[in-house]
Amino acid sequence: MVSLTFYGGANEIGGNKILLEDKDARIYLDFGQSFDFGEDYFYEYLQPRAAHGLEVYFEFDLLPKVPRLYSKKMLDRTDLKYEKPDIDAVFISHSHSDHVNHLEFLDESIPVYMGHGTHKILEAYHKLYSSLVDIGEHTSLNLFKSGDKLKIKHLVIEPIHVEHSIPGAYGFIVHTSKGPLIYTGDLRLHGPQSNMTHEFIEKAAKSKPYAMLTEGTRMGSEQEHNYTEEEVEDKIHGIVKESKGIVFVYFSMSNIDRFMSVYRAAIKNKKKLVVDTKFAFILDSLKEKIPVLPDVMADKNIQIYFRLSKSGEFEEKDYKVYERKYMPKMVTYKDISKNQKELVMHMGFNKLMELVYLQPKNADYIYSSSEHFLEGEENEAERTVLENWMKHFGVKFHKAHCSGHASKQDLAHLVKAINPKILIPIHTQRAEDFKGFHVNVKIAEKEKKMEI
Ligand SMILES: [Zn+2]
Ligand SMILES: [Zn+2]
Repeated sequence: MVSLTFYGGANEIGGNKILLEDKDARIYLDFGQSFDFGEDYFYEYLQPRAAHGLEVYFEFDLLPKVPRLYSKKMLDRTDLKYEKPDIDAVFISHSHSDHVNHLEFLDESIPVYMGHGTHKILEAYHKLYSSLVDIGEHTSLNLFKSGDKLKIKHLVIEPIHVEHSIPGAYGFIVHTSKGPLIYTGDLRLHGPQSNMTHEFIEKAAKSKPYAMLTEGTRMGSEQEHNYTEEEVEDKIHGIVKESKGIVFVYFSMSNIDRFMSVYRAAIKNKKKLVVDTKFAFILDSLKEKIPVLPDVMADKNIQIYFRLSKSGEFEEKDYKVYERKYMPKMVTYKDISKNQKELVMHMGFNKLMELVYLQPKNADYIYSSSEHFLEGEENEAERTVLENWMKHFGVKFHKAHCSGHASKQDLAHLVKAINPKILIPIHTQRAEDFKGFHVNVKIAEKEKKMEI
Protein backbone atom coordinates (compact mmCIF):
# COMPACT_ATOMS: atom_id res chain seq x y z
CA MET A 1 0.00 0.00 0.00
CA VAL A 2 1.32 3.43 -0.94
CA SER A 3 0.05 6.50 0.86
CA LEU A 4 0.61 10.23 0.64
CA THR A 5 0.10 12.78 3.41
CA PHE A 6 0.07 16.44 2.46
CA TYR A 7 1.60 18.59 5.18
CA GLY A 8 1.83 21.39 2.62
CA GLY A 9 1.09 21.93 -1.07
CA ALA A 10 -2.58 20.84 -0.92
CA ASN A 11 -5.03 23.52 -2.10
CA GLU A 12 -2.27 26.14 -1.99
CA ILE A 13 0.38 27.38 -4.38
CA GLY A 14 3.67 26.29 -2.84
CA GLY A 15 4.68 24.94 0.55
CA ASN A 16 5.17 21.39 -0.73
CA LYS A 17 5.80 18.96 2.12
CA ILE A 18 4.52 15.53 1.16
CA LEU A 19 5.07 12.29 3.07
CA LEU A 20 5.18 9.17 0.90
CA GLU A 21 4.87 5.85 2.73
CA ASP A 22 5.32 2.49 1.04
CA LYS A 23 5.70 -0.65 3.19
CA ASP A 24 8.40 0.30 5.71
CA ALA A 25 9.85 3.16 3.61
CA ARG A 26 8.97 6.75 4.49
CA ILE A 27 10.24 9.71 2.49
CA TYR A 28 9.27 13.34 2.14
CA LEU A 29 8.98 15.03 -1.24
CA ASP A 30 10.18 18.59 -0.52
CA PHE A 31 10.06 20.29 2.85
CA GLY A 32 8.97 23.83 2.07
CA GLN A 33 7.26 26.74 3.70
CA SER A 34 3.85 28.01 2.57
CA PHE A 35 3.86 31.52 1.16
CA ASP A 36 1.30 32.65 3.75
CA PHE A 37 3.15 30.94 6.62
CA GLY A 38 2.57 32.82 9.89
CA GLU A 39 1.02 35.87 8.25
CA ASP A 40 -1.96 35.81 10.63
CA TYR A 41 0.27 36.20 13.69
CA PHE A 42 3.60 37.67 12.63
CA TYR A 43 4.12 41.14 11.23
CA GLU A 44 7.25 43.05 10.31
CA TYR A 45 9.41 42.87 13.47
CA LEU A 46 6.89 40.73 15.34
CA GLN A 47 8.64 37.47 14.48
CA PRO A 48 9.54 34.29 16.38
CA ARG A 49 13.20 33.94 17.28
CA ALA A 50 15.05 30.98 15.82
CA ALA A 51 16.43 30.11 19.26
CA HIS A 52 12.92 29.39 20.53
CA GLY A 53 12.52 26.37 18.28
CA LEU A 54 9.04 25.20 17.38
CA GLU A 55 7.23 26.40 20.50
CA VAL A 56 5.73 29.45 18.78
CA TYR A 57 4.78 27.55 15.62
CA PHE A 58 2.99 24.84 17.63
CA GLU A 59 1.16 27.52 19.63
CA PHE A 60 -0.55 28.75 16.45
CA ASP A 61 -0.82 25.32 14.75
CA LEU A 62 1.52 26.49 12.02
CA LEU A 63 3.40 23.19 11.92
CA PRO A 64 1.98 19.70 12.41
CA LYS A 65 2.93 17.99 15.68
CA VAL A 66 4.41 14.98 13.94
CA PRO A 67 6.58 12.76 16.18
CA ARG A 68 10.00 11.43 15.11
CA LEU A 69 10.59 14.21 12.59
CA TYR A 70 11.99 17.36 14.22
CA SER A 71 15.36 17.86 15.88
CA LYS A 72 15.86 17.70 19.64
CA LYS A 73 16.86 21.36 19.72
CA MET A 74 13.67 22.42 17.93
CA LEU A 75 11.47 20.43 20.32
CA ASP A 76 13.28 21.57 23.45
CA ARG A 77 10.62 23.93 24.78
CA THR A 78 7.59 22.13 23.33
CA ASP A 79 5.33 19.38 24.71
CA LEU A 80 6.26 17.03 21.84
CA LYS A 81 8.76 14.52 23.18
CA TYR A 82 11.94 13.96 21.19
CA GLU A 83 12.21 10.48 19.71
CA LYS A 84 14.60 8.97 17.20
CA PRO A 85 13.32 9.85 13.68
CA ASP A 86 11.55 7.31 11.46
CA ILE A 87 11.98 9.13 8.14
CA ASP A 88 14.33 7.49 5.63
CA ALA A 89 14.99 10.52 3.43
CA VAL A 90 13.85 13.97 2.34
CA PHE A 91 14.10 14.75 -1.39
CA ILE A 92 14.31 18.40 -2.43
CA SER A 93 13.23 19.34 -5.97
CA HIS A 94 14.74 22.87 -6.09
CA SER A 95 15.89 25.74 -3.90
CA HIS A 96 12.79 27.99 -3.77
CA SER A 97 11.70 28.68 -0.18
CA ASP A 98 8.31 27.02 -0.67
CA HIS A 99 10.19 23.73 -1.24
CA VAL A 100 13.14 23.91 1.19
CA ASN A 101 12.54 26.42 3.96
CA HIS A 102 11.62 24.06 6.78
CA LEU A 103 14.67 21.82 6.40
CA GLU A 104 16.21 23.57 9.38
CA PHE A 105 13.57 22.06 11.70
CA LEU A 106 14.40 18.46 10.74
CA ASP A 107 16.29 16.04 12.92
CA GLU A 108 19.94 16.21 11.80
CA SER A 109 20.15 12.45 11.27
CA ILE A 110 17.45 12.29 8.56
CA PRO A 111 19.25 11.96 5.19
CA VAL A 112 18.59 14.89 2.85
CA TYR A 113 18.92 14.63 -0.95
CA MET A 114 19.16 17.60 -3.31
CA GLY A 115 20.74 18.52 -6.66
CA HIS A 116 24.29 19.92 -6.81
CA GLY A 117 22.97 23.23 -8.19
CA THR A 118 20.32 23.55 -5.48
CA HIS A 119 22.99 23.11 -2.82
CA LYS A 120 25.24 25.70 -4.45
CA ILE A 121 22.42 28.28 -4.60
CA LEU A 122 21.40 27.68 -0.97
CA GLU A 123 25.02 27.98 0.14
CA ALA A 124 25.52 31.29 -1.69
CA TYR A 125 22.27 32.76 -0.33
CA HIS A 126 23.10 31.58 3.18
CA LYS A 127 26.36 33.48 3.02
CA LEU A 128 24.50 36.68 2.07
CA TYR A 129 21.35 36.30 4.17
CA SER A 130 22.26 33.86 6.93
CA SER A 131 19.10 34.24 9.00
CA LEU A 132 16.69 34.13 6.04
CA VAL A 133 18.20 31.18 4.20
CA ASP A 134 19.32 28.41 6.52
CA ILE A 135 18.82 24.73 5.83
CA GLY A 136 20.27 23.72 9.22
CA GLU A 137 22.71 20.93 10.01
CA HIS A 138 22.39 17.51 8.38
CA THR A 139 24.76 14.63 9.05
CA SER A 140 23.82 13.01 5.74
CA LEU A 141 23.49 15.54 2.94
CA ASN A 142 23.53 13.79 -0.45
CA LEU A 143 23.88 15.62 -3.75
CA PHE A 144 22.45 14.10 -6.92
CA LYS A 145 22.45 14.83 -10.65
CA SER A 146 19.94 14.13 -13.39
CA GLY A 147 19.62 10.42 -14.17
CA ASP A 148 21.00 9.15 -10.85
CA LYS A 149 19.13 6.22 -9.30
CA LEU A 150 18.94 6.53 -5.53
CA LYS A 151 17.91 3.60 -3.41
CA ILE A 152 15.98 4.14 -0.17
CA LYS A 153 15.05 0.71 1.20
CA HIS A 154 13.04 -0.89 -1.66
CA LEU A 155 12.27 2.50 -3.28
CA VAL A 156 14.34 3.80 -6.20
CA ILE A 157 14.19 7.54 -6.82
CA GLU A 158 15.29 8.96 -10.14
CA PRO A 159 15.80 12.75 -10.29
CA ILE A 160 15.46 14.27 -13.78
CA HIS A 161 16.23 17.91 -14.51
CA VAL A 162 13.40 20.25 -15.48
CA GLU A 163 13.30 23.90 -16.44
CA HIS A 164 11.98 26.41 -13.91
CA SER A 165 12.73 30.05 -12.98
CA ILE A 166 15.73 28.96 -10.90
CA PRO A 167 18.57 26.70 -12.06
CA GLY A 168 19.02 23.19 -10.69
CA ALA A 169 15.32 22.18 -10.59
CA TYR A 170 14.25 18.52 -10.71
CA GLY A 171 11.26 16.28 -11.04
CA PHE A 172 11.34 12.72 -9.65
CA ILE A 173 10.31 9.26 -10.75
CA VAL A 174 9.75 7.28 -7.56
CA HIS A 175 9.68 3.53 -8.21
CA THR A 176 7.30 2.21 -5.52
CA SER A 177 5.98 -1.29 -4.81
CA LYS A 178 2.87 -0.38 -6.83
CA GLY A 179 4.73 1.09 -9.79
CA PRO A 180 6.31 4.42 -10.74
CA LEU A 181 4.99 7.61 -9.15
CA ILE A 182 5.88 10.92 -10.82
CA TYR A 183 6.55 14.13 -8.91
CA THR A 184 6.90 17.15 -11.21
CA GLY A 185 8.29 19.70 -8.72
CA ASP A 186 7.87 23.15 -10.31
CA LEU A 187 8.42 23.31 -14.06
CA ARG A 188 7.72 25.14 -17.30
CA LEU A 189 7.96 24.56 -21.02
CA HIS A 190 8.47 28.10 -22.35
CA GLY A 191 12.01 28.96 -21.26
CA PRO A 192 15.39 28.62 -22.95
CA GLN A 193 16.08 25.20 -21.36
CA SER A 194 12.69 23.65 -21.99
CA ASN A 195 14.41 20.64 -23.61
CA MET A 196 15.10 19.51 -20.02
CA THR A 197 11.39 19.50 -19.18
CA HIS A 198 10.71 17.66 -22.45
CA GLU A 199 13.27 15.04 -21.42
CA PHE A 200 11.53 14.68 -18.04
CA ILE A 201 8.14 14.23 -19.73
CA GLU A 202 9.57 11.62 -22.07
CA LYS A 203 11.19 9.59 -19.28
CA ALA A 204 8.15 9.90 -17.03
CA ALA A 205 5.86 8.69 -19.86
CA LYS A 206 8.18 5.80 -20.66
CA SER A 207 8.04 4.59 -17.04
CA LYS A 208 4.25 4.06 -17.45
CA PRO A 209 3.41 5.62 -14.09
CA TYR A 210 0.44 4.61 -12.00
CA ALA A 211 0.27 8.00 -10.29
CA MET A 212 1.49 11.56 -10.79
CA LEU A 213 1.73 14.53 -8.44
CA THR A 214 1.67 17.52 -10.75
CA GLU A 215 2.12 21.20 -10.03
CA GLY A 216 -0.76 23.39 -11.20
CA THR A 217 0.26 26.94 -10.30
CA ARG A 218 -1.21 28.54 -13.44
CA MET A 219 -4.28 26.36 -13.81
CA GLY A 220 -6.48 29.41 -13.24
CA SER A 221 -4.81 31.80 -15.68
CA GLU A 222 -6.62 31.00 -18.87
CA GLN A 223 -6.70 33.97 -21.23
CA GLU A 224 -3.26 35.44 -20.67
CA HIS A 225 -0.67 35.16 -23.41
CA ASN A 226 2.01 32.65 -22.41
CA TYR A 227 5.06 34.91 -22.68
CA THR A 228 8.31 33.12 -23.39
CA GLU A 229 11.69 34.19 -22.02
CA GLU A 230 12.64 35.11 -25.59
CA GLU A 231 9.74 37.56 -25.81
CA VAL A 232 10.74 39.04 -22.45
CA GLU A 233 14.28 39.56 -23.75
CA ASP A 234 12.92 41.26 -26.89
CA LYS A 235 10.75 43.56 -24.80
CA ILE A 236 13.65 44.54 -22.51
CA HIS A 237 15.83 45.08 -25.58
CA GLY A 238 13.19 47.41 -27.03
CA ILE A 239 12.91 49.48 -23.85
CA VAL A 240 16.70 49.78 -23.49
CA LYS A 241 16.94 50.83 -27.15
CA GLU A 242 14.35 53.59 -26.78
CA SER A 243 15.57 54.86 -23.42
CA LYS A 244 17.24 58.25 -23.19
CA GLY A 245 18.76 57.60 -19.77
CA ILE A 246 19.72 54.81 -17.42
CA VAL A 247 17.51 51.70 -17.42
CA PHE A 248 16.86 50.11 -14.03
CA VAL A 249 15.66 46.52 -14.03
CA TYR A 250 14.31 44.52 -11.14
CA PHE A 251 14.29 40.71 -11.17
CA SER A 252 15.14 37.94 -8.69
CA MET A 253 18.89 37.30 -8.44
CA SER A 254 18.29 33.56 -8.65
CA ASN A 255 16.44 33.87 -11.98
CA ILE A 256 19.50 33.19 -14.11
CA ASP A 257 17.53 33.02 -17.38
CA ARG A 258 16.30 36.54 -16.70
CA PHE A 259 19.80 37.73 -15.87
CA MET A 260 20.99 36.40 -19.24
CA SER A 261 18.09 38.13 -21.04
CA VAL A 262 18.92 41.49 -19.42
CA TYR A 263 22.66 40.98 -19.94
CA ARG A 264 22.18 40.28 -23.67
CA ALA A 265 19.73 43.18 -24.07
CA ALA A 266 22.36 45.52 -22.54
CA ILE A 267 25.14 44.24 -24.80
CA LYS A 268 22.99 44.43 -27.96
CA ASN A 269 22.50 48.12 -27.16
CA LYS A 270 26.20 48.62 -26.41
CA LYS A 271 25.47 49.36 -22.76
CA LYS A 272 27.10 48.04 -19.64
CA LEU A 273 25.23 46.10 -16.96
CA VAL A 274 25.67 47.23 -13.37
CA VAL A 275 25.07 44.76 -10.53
CA ASP A 276 25.74 45.25 -6.82
CA THR A 277 28.25 43.24 -4.78
CA LYS A 278 25.62 40.73 -3.60
CA PHE A 279 24.57 39.99 -7.16
CA ALA A 280 28.23 39.72 -8.22
CA PHE A 281 28.75 37.18 -5.45
CA ILE A 282 25.75 35.08 -6.58
CA LEU A 283 26.93 35.09 -10.21
CA ASP A 284 30.44 34.23 -9.11
CA SER A 285 29.20 31.33 -6.95
CA LEU A 286 27.00 29.83 -9.68
CA LYS A 287 29.47 30.24 -12.55
CA GLU A 288 31.06 26.85 -11.84
CA LYS A 289 27.72 25.03 -12.25
CA ILE A 290 26.35 27.29 -15.02
CA PRO A 291 29.19 27.84 -17.50
CA VAL A 292 27.06 30.11 -19.74
CA LEU A 293 27.24 32.81 -17.05
CA PRO A 294 29.76 35.58 -17.68
CA ASP A 295 32.81 35.87 -15.46
CA VAL A 296 31.96 38.96 -13.38
CA MET A 297 35.60 39.91 -12.85
CA ALA A 298 36.78 39.44 -16.45
CA ASP A 299 33.70 40.56 -18.39
CA LYS A 300 34.00 44.15 -19.59
CA ASN A 301 30.22 44.43 -19.99
CA ILE A 302 29.69 44.11 -16.24
CA GLN A 303 30.35 46.76 -13.62
CA ILE A 304 30.01 46.25 -9.88
CA TYR A 305 28.23 48.85 -7.81
CA PHE A 306 29.51 49.73 -4.34
CA ARG A 307 27.03 51.65 -2.21
CA LEU A 308 28.09 54.70 -0.27
CA SER A 309 29.59 53.51 3.00
CA LYS A 310 29.23 55.05 6.44
CA SER A 311 32.59 56.76 6.21
CA GLY A 312 31.71 58.31 2.87
CA GLU A 313 34.93 56.88 1.46
CA PHE A 314 35.12 53.85 -0.79
CA GLU A 315 37.80 51.96 1.05
CA GLU A 316 38.36 48.30 1.75
CA LYS A 317 37.56 48.60 5.46
CA ASP A 318 34.07 49.88 4.62
CA TYR A 319 32.98 46.62 3.01
CA LYS A 320 32.47 42.99 4.00
CA VAL A 321 35.20 40.49 3.22
CA TYR A 322 33.30 38.85 0.34
CA GLU A 323 32.75 42.25 -1.32
CA ARG A 324 36.40 43.27 -1.32
CA LYS A 325 37.25 40.82 -4.05
CA TYR A 326 35.16 42.93 -6.46
CA MET A 327 36.84 46.26 -5.68
CA PRO A 328 38.95 46.27 -8.87
CA LYS A 329 35.65 46.55 -10.78
CA MET A 330 34.08 49.10 -8.45
CA VAL A 331 31.75 51.80 -9.73
CA THR A 332 30.09 54.27 -7.39
CA TYR A 333 27.15 56.66 -7.66
CA LYS A 334 29.58 59.27 -8.99
CA ASP A 335 30.55 57.13 -12.00
CA ILE A 336 26.96 56.16 -12.67
CA SER A 337 25.45 59.62 -12.51
CA LYS A 338 28.01 60.78 -15.10
CA ASN A 339 27.35 57.93 -17.57
CA GLN A 340 23.65 57.27 -17.19
CA LYS A 341 22.90 56.78 -20.88
CA GLU A 342 25.44 53.99 -21.15
CA LEU A 343 24.06 51.83 -18.37
CA VAL A 344 21.50 49.20 -17.44
CA MET A 345 21.37 48.63 -13.68
CA HIS A 346 19.80 45.96 -11.47
CA MET A 347 17.66 47.78 -8.91
CA GLY A 348 15.51 46.18 -6.22
CA PHE A 349 12.86 47.92 -4.11
CA ASN A 350 15.09 47.96 -1.03
CA LYS A 351 17.88 49.68 -2.94
CA LEU A 352 15.83 52.63 -4.24
CA MET A 353 17.65 54.89 -1.76
CA GLU A 354 20.59 54.84 -4.17
CA LEU A 355 18.53 56.98 -6.57
CA VAL A 356 19.05 59.95 -4.25
CA TYR A 357 22.77 59.74 -4.93
CA LEU A 358 22.50 58.66 -8.57
CA GLN A 359 20.04 61.46 -9.50
CA PRO A 360 18.62 59.69 -12.58
CA LYS A 361 17.59 61.75 -15.62
CA ASN A 362 15.12 60.40 -18.23
CA ALA A 363 15.39 56.98 -16.61
CA ASP A 364 13.28 53.87 -17.19
CA TYR A 365 12.43 51.15 -14.66
CA ILE A 366 11.52 47.64 -15.78
CA TYR A 367 9.70 45.51 -13.25
CA SER A 368 10.67 42.00 -14.34
CA SER A 369 9.34 39.75 -11.62
CA SER A 370 6.07 38.14 -10.53
CA GLU A 371 2.99 40.25 -11.28
CA HIS A 372 1.75 39.34 -7.83
CA PHE A 373 3.50 42.35 -6.33
CA LEU A 374 1.85 44.69 -8.82
CA GLU A 375 -1.64 43.27 -8.30
CA GLY A 376 -1.97 41.94 -4.75
CA GLU A 377 -3.93 44.06 -2.26
CA GLU A 378 -1.47 43.18 0.50
CA ASN A 379 1.30 44.94 -1.41
CA GLU A 380 -0.56 48.19 -1.88
CA ALA A 381 1.45 50.23 0.61
CA GLU A 382 4.76 49.07 -0.84
CA ARG A 383 3.52 49.65 -4.38
CA THR A 384 2.53 53.22 -3.53
CA VAL A 385 6.03 53.86 -2.18
CA LEU A 386 7.52 52.52 -5.43
CA GLU A 387 5.17 54.75 -7.47
CA ASN A 388 6.15 57.76 -5.37
CA TRP A 389 9.83 57.15 -6.09
CA MET A 390 9.13 56.79 -9.81
CA LYS A 391 7.14 60.05 -9.83
CA HIS A 392 9.68 61.93 -7.76
CA PHE A 393 12.54 61.12 -10.13
CA GLY A 394 10.41 61.18 -13.30
CA VAL A 395 11.18 57.51 -14.04
CA LYS A 396 9.12 55.73 -16.68
CA PHE A 397 7.70 52.41 -15.45
CA HIS A 398 7.50 49.21 -17.56
CA LYS A 399 6.73 45.54 -17.02
CA ALA A 400 8.41 42.57 -18.69
CA HIS A 401 8.07 39.11 -17.22
CA CYS A 402 7.23 35.50 -17.92
CA SER A 403 6.26 32.86 -15.38
CA GLY A 404 8.41 30.07 -13.97
CA HIS A 405 5.43 27.73 -14.24
CA ALA A 406 3.79 25.84 -17.09
CA SER A 407 0.71 27.45 -18.66
CA LYS A 408 -2.67 25.72 -18.49
CA GLN A 409 -2.20 24.53 -22.05
CA ASP A 410 1.24 23.09 -21.28
CA LEU A 411 -0.13 21.37 -18.16
CA ALA A 412 -2.73 19.70 -20.38
CA HIS A 413 0.06 18.54 -22.67
CA LEU A 414 2.12 17.24 -19.73
CA VAL A 415 -0.79 15.22 -18.31
CA LYS A 416 -1.68 13.78 -21.70
CA ALA A 417 1.91 12.86 -22.58
CA ILE A 418 2.76 11.24 -19.24
CA ASN A 419 -0.68 9.66 -18.92
CA PRO A 420 -0.69 8.39 -15.31
CA LYS A 421 -3.54 6.19 -14.04
CA ILE A 422 -4.10 8.54 -11.09
CA LEU A 423 -3.55 12.31 -11.23
CA ILE A 424 -3.03 14.31 -8.02
CA PRO A 425 -2.73 18.09 -8.57
CA ILE A 426 -0.65 19.93 -5.95
CA HIS A 427 0.89 23.44 -5.70
CA THR A 428 -2.42 24.85 -7.00
CA GLN A 429 -5.70 26.32 -5.84
CA ARG A 430 -7.49 24.90 -8.88
CA ALA A 431 -7.06 21.14 -8.44
CA GLU A 432 -10.69 20.46 -9.49
CA ASP A 433 -10.01 22.02 -12.90
CA PHE A 434 -7.68 19.12 -13.74
CA LYS A 435 -10.80 16.95 -14.08
CA GLY A 436 -11.13 18.52 -17.52
CA PHE A 437 -7.83 16.85 -18.50
CA HIS A 438 -8.01 13.48 -16.81
CA VAL A 439 -10.62 10.89 -15.77
CA ASN A 440 -9.10 9.92 -12.43
CA VAL A 441 -8.16 13.04 -10.47
CA LYS A 442 -7.68 12.73 -6.72
CA ILE A 443 -7.88 15.90 -4.66
CA ALA A 444 -5.21 16.36 -1.99
CA GLU A 445 -6.35 17.67 1.39
CA LYS A 446 -4.09 19.23 3.98
CA GLU A 447 -2.77 16.81 6.62
CA LYS A 448 -4.98 14.01 5.30
CA LYS A 449 -3.59 10.65 4.31
CA MET A 450 -4.46 9.52 0.77
CA GLU A 451 -4.07 5.89 -0.15
CA ILE A 452 -3.28 5.21 -3.76
ZN1 LIG B 1 6.96 26.21 -5.75
ZN1 LIG C 1 9.72 27.06 -7.56
